Amino acid sequence: MEKVTLGRTGLQVTKMALGGIPLSTVMGGNTEEEIEKVIHAALDAGINFIDTSRVYLDSETNIGRALEQRKSKCFIATKTMSRGYEEILADLEESLRELKVDSMEIFQAHYMSKDDIPLFLKKGGGLDAFTKAKERGLTRFIGVTSHYLDCLIELVKTGEFDTVMFPYNVVERDAEKELMQLARKMNVGTLVMKPLSGGALRQIEGSLRFLLDKPVDVILTGMSSVDELEENLAIIERNIPLSPQELKLLEEEVAPLGKLFCRRCGYCLPCTNDIRIPEMIQLMYQTMQGLSYEELPERKKRMGPGLLMWYEACTECGECEKKCPYQLPTIERKRALVELFSRG
Ligand code: SF4
Ligand code: SF4
Repeated sequence: MEKVTLGRTGLQVTKMALGGIPLSTVMGGNTEEEIEKVIHAALDAGINFIDTSRVYLDSETNIGRALEQRKSKCFIATKTMSRGYEEILADLEESLRELKVDSMEIFQAHYMSKDDIPLFLKKGGGLDAFTKAKERGLTRFIGVTSHYLDCLIELVKTGEFDTVMFPYNVVERDAEKELMQLARKMNVGTLVMKPLSGGALRQIEGSLRFLLDKPVDVILTGMSSVDELEENLAIIERNIPLSPQELKLLEEEVAPLGKLFCRRCGYCLPCTNDIRIPEMIQLMYQTMQGLSYEELPERKKRMGPGLLMWYEACTECGECEKKCPYQLPTIERKRALVELFSRG
C-alpha cells in the first residue's frame, strides 16, 4: 500500500490506518478473537499504523496483545482525555503498559474543546506533560484531536503539535475552509477520522475515493471484520479519486443525511441509565428514511423489544444532548422510537 510522509514527523505511514474504536470489545461489540483477526489481517496487508485511545476501553489491551505476537514494526498512536499534568502522564504510563511497548510514535490530546485551551496551555498544564513525555522518550511526537475545528485551528497555530486529527468526509467538509491548509503550511501531519461519518455513510467506495485526492495524509478507518478490511483496502489500493461527475452523484445521494445524523462517536456516553445512545440514534435514521415498522429490516425489528426497555428507562435528563458535539436531539428521537416500536 502507498506510504505517505506524515507531516513533520517524517514517519512513512500507510495511507490507510486502523482505527481503534472497533478494536474494543465493548465499543465495537466483537470478541477478542475477532478483533485479533482484524489486527493481524491489517498488518499482513501492510498497514503499519494503528490509532487508539485510553477511552476506547479495552482497545489498547487488545492491540497490545496482538502486536506482542508479531515481529514487524507498527506505528502506534494513542490519546488521553485527561487535561491535568499528572493525570496525562499517568494515562500515558497506563497506555504503554496496555500496549506492551516502551514508547509510542504519537501521543495525542483527545477531543479538545475551546474551554480546555487556557488550562492546557498554561505553565504546568497539559501541554507541559506532553512535552515532558517527549523529553523522556515515551512518545516521539505529540498530536491533538477534536471534533471542534476552531479549537484545532487555535492549537495548531501554537506550533506545538506534530499531528492533527479531525472529522472529514463527503458530508463534513468544514475542515477544507482553513484547517487543512493551515496544517499543510505548518507541515503538521493530518489524520482524517470518520471517513464514513461514523458509519452513517453507506456509500463506502465513493466515500473513501472522495478522500484520495484531498490534501490529507492518513485515512483512519475503524473496521470490524476482515471482510470490511479487505473491501476498504481494495478501494484505497486501486487509488482512483472520484471524477467530478461521480462526486456530484455522490453528493446527491448523501444529501438526505443533512447534518443531523449520528457519527457513533460515543461522546454522549455513558448514559446515566446505561442506554446505548448511538444504536438508538442509528435506528432512528431508518425512520427518517420514511420507513414504517413493517418496512424495517428483520434485525432492527428483533432489536425493538430490547431497545424499548432501554428507551423506557430514559429519564430525559438531557446529559447526552449537552455532550453531543453535533447537537443531536436525542430525546426527541427517543420519543419517536418508542412510538415506532410500540406499533410493532
Ligand atoms: S436523556 Fe436519556 S438517553 Fe440521554 S443521558 Fe439522559 S437518560 Fe440517557
Ligand atoms: S448522539 Fe452525538 S455524541 Fe452520541 S454517538 Fe451520536 S453523534 Fe456522537
